[in-house]
Amino acid sequence: MTDVVDKATRSRMMAGIQGKNTIPELMLRKALHAKGIRYRLHYAKLPGRPDIVFPRFKSVCFVHGCFWHRHPGCRFATTPATRPEFWQTKFASNVARDHRNRDELMAIGWRVATVWECALQRKDLDPVVTTLIGWLIGGGSEVIEIGGGDGQVRHSPRALRSHRLQISPQMPSTSQTHRRCAGSHGDNP
Ligand code: ZN
Repeated sequence: MTDVVDKATRSRMMAGIQGKNTIPELMLRKALHAKGIRYRLHYAKLPGRPDIVFPRFKSVCFVHGCFWHRHPGCRFATTPATRPEFWQTKFASNVARDHRNRDELMAIGWRVATVWECALQRKDLDPVVTTLIGWLIGGGSEVIEIGGGDGQVRHSPRALRSHRLQISPQMPSTSQTHRRCAGSHGDNP
C-alpha cells in the first residue's frame, strides 16, 4: 500500500495524535515564561481543556496542529488522498469540537487565543509571543488567531459578537526622535 502523504506531512499527522505537550507547544510555553507570563496547563475544569491557561487575564490559548484542526488556507492542512470520507468526517468533528469549546469558553467569560503550529515553525518566536502577550495584557477582542509563517494575526469573525476590536500589536511608533547631528568634529580651528 503506497503512502500518499509525504514524509513531513506524515510526521505532523503522527505528532498531532498526542495533542498535548507537542514540541511547538513547549516552545511557546518556554517563550512566554521567559517574558514573565505565568500560566496553568491543560486545565481540565475548562471546556476543551485548553493547552495554556492565563487565569490572571481570564484567557486561554490553544496550540492547534494545522493538519488535525484544519487551519484555513494553511499549506499543512492537507487532505490524504485515500479514505477521503474517513478524513472528512474526522476533520469535521475536530473543527466542530474546537468551535464548541471556544463558544463555551466565551459564554463563561473567557477569551480564547488559537496559535497555529505553523506560526511556531520559526527560530524566532518573538513576533508570535509579542502578539499574544499584547492581546493578553491589552484586553479587547475575545478571540485571536495567530498563524502563518509570517506570524499573521486574524480574528475569527464567526466568534465575534457585537464589536470588533483591534488586536494588532501596537508598536510605539509615535515617538519620532530626531537626532541632531553635530556634523563637525573640529571644535578647534
Ligand atoms: Zn497553519
